[in-house]
Amino acid sequence: MIQLKNSAQISAMLEAGRITGEALLVARERVREGISTKELDTVIREYIEKCGAKPSFLGYNGFPASACISINDEVIHGIPSKNRILKEGDIVKIDVGAFYKGFHGDSARTIAVGSVSEEASRLIKVTRESFFCGVAAVKTGNRIGDLGNSIQRHVEDAGFSVVKKYIGHGIGRALHESPDVPNFGTAGRGARLCSGMTLAIEPMVNIGSEEVYELPDGWTVKTRDGSLSAHYENTVALTSEGVIITTLVDSEW
Ligand code: MG
Ligand code: MG
Repeated sequence: MIQLKNSAQISAMLEAGRITGEALLVARERVREGISTKELDTVIREYIEKCGAKPSFLGYNGFPASACISINDEVIHGIPSKNRILKEGDIVKIDVGAFYKGFHGDSARTIAVGSVSEEASRLIKVTRESFFCGVAAVKTGNRIGDLGNSIQRHVEDAGFSVVKKYIGHGIGRALHESPDVPNFGTAGRGARLCSGMTLAIEPMVNIGSEEVYELPDGWTVKTRDGSLSAHYENTVALTSEGVIITTLVDSEW
């Protein structure tokens, strides 16, 4: 069942979202060649805890860290490690959740380490744009399929592919709630959008094929063909006054 939120609950989600977004900004400041993904995870956890919040991902289904950090052809759910060191030219995906006053925020960004290839830059840009194409379809009376279709068309028009095996989700008191929010779909199909819905919209986009697989660590998801993948996620709330992006604290990013 879809849990609709009232305005007080959406205000609480704005606070959780702000902490989530700020944790990503703190991590962005630290991204450079030579830093380990474990160090990035530590600054994220410390920031979230300093705010009086809890990292949503720590211990979630046994996940051992506060952020998922995935490099290059890793799509999502990378486990931070002191042995994973960022290199010039990498693209790194950082996915963060914060739980505060009973509600979650969930947000991800893909960050270039130093200068990256033109194709990698374009991938990051198109993935971000596709999120906003999805948000443009988040309107009372539209359907989940309108949102997914907008994302998919933007990505495929750019010559990239949308990962279909992993999708966005409702979010609120639980990190993952109904409804499913695929990054693909048919316009006019699926659950109807209405005021009080809170969704994590999160396109995952590959340069090559959409095929992905999970590593034996039980978490890390990689592209089958080894091509680069990007991820962009925010938590959004549909209200009677329109859409609020709870985790967007730097409107340029
Ligand atoms: Mg996430
Ligand atoms: Mg999510």
